[in-house]
Amino acid sequence: MTDELIRTVHLTKVYGVGETAVRALDDVNLSVARGELVAVMGPSGCGKSTLLNLLGALDRPTSGEVWVAGENLARLKNVDTFRAKTVGFVFQLHNLLPTLTALENVEVPMQGHLSAGKRRTRAKELLALVGLADRGAALPNQLSGGQRQRVAVARALANGPALLLADEPTGSLDSQSGDEILALLADLNQTQGTTILIVTHDRRVAQATQRIVRMSDGRIISDHRLADPLEEDLRALADSRLGQAILGRNGATLQHLRAEEQMALQRLLERWARGG
Ligand code: ADP
Repeated sequence: MTDELIRTVHLTKVYGVGETAVRALDDVNLSVARGELVAVMGPSGCGKSTLLNLLGALDRPTSGEVWVAGENLARLKNVDTFRAKTVGFVFQLHNLLPTLTALENVEVPMQGHLSAGKRRTRAKELLALVGLADRGAALPNQLSGGQRQRVAVARALANGPALLLADEPTGSLDSQSGDEILALLADLNQTQGTTILIVTHDRRVAQATQRIVRMSDGRIISDHRLADPLEEDLRALADSRLGQAILGRNGATLQHLRAEEQMALQRLLERWARGG
């Protein structure tokens, strides 16, 4: 049995009524296991943010169910506690409070949950985790865009959420800072086991994840896992000296393979190298 963290059942969200009604989500059935790193992709307006908002209990569905960590969000006894403890949000714009230092910003979600001393200790640990151990005293406007987004990630992790929801987290960053944020999220997924959903239309983000859910017009139109063992083996093979020889790259040849073996391998790898 998979250890399921998220399940949506016939999830539908309609904004407005009558002729102007917009079906932002239309019968979405999604299951995400604990520990997954998932990219949600699709054109602007296809319902990505709406899905994230419903998963984070920031909004309520028109019909259907959302289950997170075994809880039906429609029946939560305390929505604020759920939002504070079970999910962390990272948005395109970091939303840090400008008059608070990096450390103080990270401490904000811990207020009411931890004592002042413990908040400070935890905030320092989190800033170290995102590579900003020495910038705790800086105000947001003294940090680069990428560093501010790192603080936002640390803040989202404040209460050790099972689920991190990131809505276009690289959208306002230059490509290098964006890559660093992605590497950070992938690292957190690996080392902390945090389940992460990243909404994006950036192909590079998707490449950093293990699973791509594509949406269009409020529906899931494909759900594709990348960490397929065959895929991994082919990638390793293509990168090896043997693979280079099979692909006829760098002047390498394969005299010891029979011609038909060579042809079969070459076709397989060529197909993979072209993207299937
Ligand atoms: P995406 O994140 O993929 O760009 P959204 O989830 O933001 O898409 O939006 C999905 C659809 O729902 C769009 O047509 C959008 O205009 C509409 N929509 C989103 N939020 C609201 C709202 N608060 N009121 C009315 N329509 C909305």
